[in-house]
Amino acid sequence: MRKINTRQFHRATRSTPREINRKIVLNLVREHQPISRADLARQMHVGRGMITQLVDELIAQGVVAEGATANALRGRKPKLLHVRTRDHFCIAVDVRFSRTHVALTDLDGRQLALQTLETELDPDALVAAIALRVEGLMLGRDPECCEGIGVVVPGMIHRRTGHILLSPQLGWRDVPLREALAKATGLRVLIENAPIACALAHMWLPPFSRDGVDNFVYVTVSDGVGVSVVDDGEVFRGHGDTAGEFGHLPLSLDGPKCMCGLRGCLEAYTSNVATLARYFDVDASVPASRKAMRDLGFGMEDLVARMRSGDPRAAYALAETGRYLGIGLAGIITALSPARVIVSGEITEAWDVIGPLVSAGVHERAITPAAAATPIDVAPTGDSPRLRGATALLVARRFAAPEVA
Ligand SMILES: [Zn+2]
Repeated sequence: MRKINTRQFHRATRSTPREINRKIVLNLVREHQPISRADLARQMHVGRGMITQLVDELIAQGVVAEGATANALRGRKPKLLHVRTRDHFCIAVDVRFSRTHVALTDLDGRQLALQTLETELDPDALVAAIALRVEGLMLGRDPECCEGIGVVVPGMIHRRTGHILLSPQLGWRDVPLREALAKATGLRVLIENAPIACALAHMWLPPFSRDGVDNFVYVTVSDGVGVSVVDDGEVFRGHGDTAGEFGHLPLSLDGPKCMCGLRGCLEAYTSNVATLARYFDVDASVPASRKAMRDLGFGMEDLVARMRSGDPRAAYALAETGRYLGIGLAGIITALSPARVIVSGEITEAWDVIGPLVSAGVHERAITPAAAATPIDVAPTGDSPRLRGATALLVARRFAAPEVA
């Protein structure tokens, strides 16, 4: 049960119950489409009359449409319903230290076109470069059908203003990226950090989880290590909107220096930068070393390839990352007791080798058998989870439950 905040509440109106039921129908259609009215009535445990009314309203709003005819043994063949997303599209942007990706996607997160550019570390130059790509992707398309631009960035975001409060990887502090990009493109811009966006994609884009449990921790391992926590379908944000910074959970007080300025953080042992620095035997906290590694054009996929071709140093660098990641995940599981942990990032390409090490780390540190048995799933990089996350920022609003009380 949730306590009502008497200073900030959303009052129910006469239309609220109907609005909630419409959203339930909309989400059922989306997750089971194409679906008949009879099946909807069964799923919602209500009579056909009520479903017909709700569906009629959704059709009138233009969000649900009738399509194919279902096979019926006898009598009138029912028309199947689906969510109407035709012509609608999103712009998804993934800003990373190495490269920035700008994609045109549909509302299910499928990529229709993709452009890649080098990440300019000067915010104004980056905004101009992204705006140029957006303009190219929008050519010949109706701006009215654009849901907006979803942007995923590495760093802490101020939710209300969309300012990037701090991004050690990009070397940014208090950058008004959302505002600048909205001004440059004339489109609505939503912005989030990678782990929150990826968690939203996991919840809001197909394939939807079959068990319906939206209680998980999402860990993104890339240039940094980010975590987001989802409890009962909602992202836990904390008082200052920056909850989940488990990347800076200390594994050792005198470990390697982290980009946050402290020592021994989980990120300093397990980020892509940390893994590559271990391989090249350089100090990843020195900006010049990071830049030198980036300029080398040698990425995680190259390291995984070297491991597969029998390079023992590559195998060691990745195995150490797996071991530390397992210990870090055990700490997160102990703190939060999630139903599952999802890991995304290039490291997952080597999961057949490091996955067992991660699990061993979790088993070693978990405090109960149930905690040790927490499933750890991977989100394949081929699915572009970060770009899907950028799309999910825009899509989630369309299907989210109405805010009441
Ligand atoms: Zn740190």
